[in-house]
Amino acid sequence: MKVNRLAWTTYRIPFRQPFVTAHGAQTERCGVLIQLHTDNGLVGLGEAAPIPGGPARAWPEVAALLETLQASLPSRRLEEMTDVMEPTGHAHPVAVAAVRCGLDTASCDLLAQAAGTSVALWLQKESSETVPVNTTIALPDVASAADAAATARASGFPCVKLKVGMAKGAEAERERVAAVRRAIGGRLKLRLDANGAWGVEQAIHTIRVLEPYGIEFVEQPVACGDVEALRRVRAAVRTPIAADEDVDSVAAAERVLGAGAAQVLVIKPMVVGGLRPARQIIERAQCQGVSCLVTTTLDTGIGTAAALHLAATLPATGLACGLATGALLTTDLLTTPLLVRDGRMQRPNAAGLGVRLDEEAVKRHNRPL
Ligand SMILES: [Mg+2]
Repeated sequence: MKVNRLAWTTYRIPFRQPFVTAHGAQTERCGVLIQLHTDNGLVGLGEAAPIPGGPARAWPEVAALLETLQASLPSRRLEEMTDVMEPTGHAHPVAVAAVRCGLDTASCDLLAQAAGTSVALWLQKESSETVPVNTTIALPDVASAADAAATARASGFPCVKLKVGMAKGAEAERERVAAVRRAIGGRLKLRLDANGAWGVEQAIHTIRVLEPYGIEFVEQPVACGDVEALRRVRAAVRTPIAADEDVDSVAAAERVLGAGAAQVLVIKPMVVGGLRPARQIIERAQCQGVSCLVTTTLDTGIGTAAALHLAATLPATGLACGLATGALLTTDLLTTPLLVRDGRMQRPNAAGLGVRLDEEAVKRHNRPL
């Protein structure tokens, strides 16, 4: 099977409400949809969408990287795609990872279609049909966050992830976390994500203040790039610690694992460069008894379907995954949406990714990056 054409479309899709984290507010999601056409008539889909809140130069660089790759792709055997997925030059690593993810997803889609199986079963012999998912609350206001939490409970989510790190001090964090815990009751899991907003001492103090609210884990309490700081927080608090921004490649995940800096790894295919690097991380983490969960980067339906297939390869008893993010956007660009029922997402069973683009919606949202 040879690739004879690489096509792509840029998109801009508004968030239903501004998505607020410790890094600020996002109002729209931008990215690129990739189509790899082969000589036997198959089309593989992928999404290359640098993570929201990342460097502004990453989005135009994705298009520029694809333009450069376009000339070298035709007539490549699909198995050689890993060579072209190492773009050189001065592009930001976030843009390079997104392009690699888009091409890796499209390649996995094609290889799974050719094998007549789903991407999940192509990646791993055993795979779950459904994956437990959390909802994400990124509303800074206490009452709005509590309302969203009550809605999540009523919708059957087993787990709520609350963005923290925006409040002024531990007492304000406590007030908001307490309101959300009251809204969801005692049985739902509640995890927090600080997106690296705290220093080590501040993280230790704040997490200790929040521990009475039954926190499943705290994601990235301190800024990424200092695994020793993460390890110090882990050693000082009872609540488990998850590494997220610190897991931006296979090598970075190995550093976290090597330092024993976290009990949980958050894996984003868009950040680590695709489904196959993500599987490598999962396998290494499992060897060390560290749990993994998969999340989208608030992608459209293509990126979400890819993350869902990956999440379906995790042990069935695992943590809820951050895949129920489609509703944050005004559209998912799919003909049939990926639905959440009773707090679980069902992975498509058809060969490949098993989803189709809504061409009309793609046209409607086509804007330059
Ligand atoms: Mg996170």
